[in-house]
Amino acid sequence: MSWGLDNLPYGVFSRRGESPRVGVRYGDSVLDLAAALHDEVFAAPSLNPFMARGRSAWHDTRTLIRNKLDSDRSVTGPHLVPLEQVRLHMPFEVADYVDFYCSLEHASNVGKIFRPDTDGLTPNWRHLPIGYHGRSGTVVVSGTPVTRPHGQLGAGRFGPSAKLDIEAELGFVVGVPSEMGSPAGPLEEHVFGVTLLNDWSARDIQGWEYVPLGPFLGKSFATSISPWVTPLEALPRVPGRPQDPAPLDYLRRREDWGLDISVEVSINDEVVSRPPYSGMYWTPDQMLAHMTVNGASLRTGDLFASGTISGPRREERGSLIELTWNGSDPIKLPGGETRTFLENGDTVTIRATAGDLTLGEVSGTVRQVT
Ligand code: CA
Repeated sequence: MSWGLDNLPYGVFSRRGESPRVGVRYGDSVLDLAAALHDEVFAAPSLNPFMARGRSAWHDTRTLIRNKLDSDRSVTGPHLVPLEQVRLHMPFEVADYVDFYCSLEHASNVGKIFRPDTDGLTPNWRHLPIGYHGRSGTVVVSGTPVTRPHGQLGAGRFGPSAKLDIEAELGFVVGVPSEMGSPAGPLEEHVFGVTLLNDWSARDIQGWEYVPLGPFLGKSFATSISPWVTPLEALPRVPGRPQDPAPLDYLRRREDWGLDISVEVSINDEVVSRPPYSGMYWTPDQMLAHMTVNGASLRTGDLFASGTISGPRREERGSLIELTWNGSDPIKLPGGETRTFLENGDTVTIRATAGDLTLGEVSGTVRQVT
């Protein structure tokens, strides 16, 4: 089963006429945790209260759920709600949202596109995981329509973005008991789980506004995440990509936090890219260490994203601007249609797997409001 006992991601669901509450995906059902475990923390409309309990509670709860599903079906059975009877909601309340830039290939490609007279990478790139603070209030759950943004497209030019793009990323979701401060310790003490994330990007707005302070309105109109948060504990770990030069001590890797996750990007059901997460240069433990090294504290619900996942091959690039860059043909869709950037009505879906485990999908359809 692709949503079996090794997976068990958390989300927030509601049945018709009832308020949202926390559940765990199992097969084609959602286990109603407040009812099955008799724990009111799961009656909340977000994962935040549960995430704030900390790592040992996450582990114990996961073990309890597995045991109940595995051996106690007479108890759990009545609390398994078929997926078609539920609506899925934002799984957690986003506190602060940070987006990193951890793929060497993506940073090189985009650097050359935005700054053609350079080799792409800025002098700091191999020394620290570059990031910026995004807009947590516009992080939306999969299925939410994405309105094409308007903005400044150049000097004296205003209108709807003509270069609407996506970025295929992973998002790391933070849970911290209130007594935990900064700097952060090991990743597994602070990160509850992983979502898929689409960082919708208006390249024309971005290209005009980003110097010198970085992304702003070209990004802040929408960021989509998957409804299921896969526990970090469920994901298989692999060694991170070798780094040269060796990073400073606070960024030194103490454990393997590479993740062997295969990503797939589709436009209107046609697969256009298959980015491999395992090749990312900066790993999430390093992102967390960097994000807190200045004394900045963490809050439950913080979300930090990997940045676009791109591999070395063309068909592994995680954004359209890279896929169609440098004389590459436009993206071919069924029926002879092509794309350089997204058109109204296009649906973008990002899926991912880690071996036999699925991380589900994040999907969104572009609409224009006239
Ligand atoms: Ca991004």
